[in-house]
Amino acid sequence: MILRFVRGTPEDDVQRVRARLEREGHRTVRSPERERPILAVIGKIKPATLSELERDPAIEARVRSEIPDLVLVHRAFREGPTVARVGSVRVGGDDVVVIAGPCSVEGREAVLEVAHAVREAGAHILRGGAYKPRTSPYAFQGFGVEGLSQLKAAGEAVKLPVVSEIMDAADLPAFLDHHIDCLQIGARNMQNFSLLKAVAASGLPVLLKRGLAATVEEWLFAAEYLAAFGAREIMLCERGIRTFEKATRNTLDLTVLPLMREWSHLPILVDPAHAAGIARIIPPLSRASIAAGADGVAVEVHLDPSVARSDGPQALLPGEFARLVAEARVMAAVTGRRLHPPPGSPAA
Ligand code: PEP
Ligand code: MN
Repeated sequence: MILRFVRGTPEDDVQRVRARLEREGHRTVRSPERERPILAVIGKIKPATLSELERDPAIEARVRSEIPDLVLVHRAFREGPTVARVGSVRVGGDDVVVIAGPCSVEGREAVLEVAHAVREAGAHILRGGAYKPRTSPYAFQGFGVEGLSQLKAAGEAVKLPVVSEIMDAADLPAFLDHHIDCLQIGARNMQNFSLLKAVAASGLPVLLKRGLAATVEEWLFAAEYLAAFGAREIMLCERGIRTFEKATRNTLDLTVLPLMREWSHLPILVDPAHAAGIARIIPPLSRASIAAGADGVAVEVHLDPSVARSDGPQALLPGEFARLVAEARVMAAVTGRRLHPPPGSPAA
C-alpha cells in the first residue's frame, strides 16, 4: 500500500506512522518527495491498523497497488513521472532522447567512427555491447573489458554518456572501473534476480529491457527489484516480444507505452531495432513510439552493416539515423515535448 500524506505534513508525523508500521513487521520506504511525503508499505496491513490509518488526518490517500507489493515503481509512489540522469542527459519528463551506437563494440577505431556519426546526427547517449548475449556459442561474444574501454574512450571523445549491457555480476567492477554511465539489463536477463540485485547496489542508472516473453507485471517486478535493492535511476525499455509472427524478429508492443504511464512513474524507452530486426522499418516504428509517448528510442547504427559482427540487418547507416533524429524532433513537438538538447550544450 502507498500512503500519500497531506502536502506539508511535518516529518515527525510521517516518522510516527512509519515507526508504527515497522513495529508491526512492515518494511516501509519513504519516497524522495519532500513537499508531499509518500510512504510505501510492504506487506498486508492488519484491518485494525488500516482503519486507524483511515482516520489519520495527515494521510490524504491510501493507494492499494493493483499488483500487491508493486509499490516503489508504482505511479502513486511519486508526484509525477520521474527523470533518470545518465551523465548529463535527463531521460523522462518533457524531453525525448535518442540512444544510438553499434550493436557490438567492434574495435577502438570502429566505435569512435560510429560515435562521431551518431553525435553529429544528434544522439544523446552512445550504446555498444562489450558482453554479447548470443544465441550461438560460436557467434562473436564481444570484446569484454577491452570493449568497455573502447566504448568509454569513444564516448569521452564525442562527449556522450555510454550505456552497455552487463550479463554477469562478476563483471560489475569492470563497468565501474571504466566509468560506464548506464548499465543495460538485456531481455534475456530481465529475471536474473541476482544480477538485478548486484546492478541495483552499484548505484548506477539502469536501462531495463523487457524480457522476450515477459508480461508487464513481470517486467515491473524486475524494476521493483532494482528499486528495492537500491537503484535510483531506472528506465524501462520495450524491445519487442515473442509472438507467433515470424515476419519480424519480434513483435513491437506499443500498447505498453500508455499503460506504463498509468502504472508506473518510470521513464519508458523503445528499442524498435531488436523488435523489428529490419533496418528499413525502424524509422516508422520510432515515429510511432514517440507518438505513443515513449521518452526516447534506442537504435543501432553501423558504418557498414554488411560487415557488422552482430545485428547487421537492423543497423541504420549514419544518414538514415540522422533522418530518424530529425523525425524524432518533429514527433516530440507534435506530442508537446521537445528533443533533448545535445549533451554539453547551454540548453541541456
Ligand atoms: C542489444 O541491445 O544489443 C540486445 C542484445 O538487446 P536485447 O537484450 O533487447 O535483445
Ligand atoms: Mn543488438
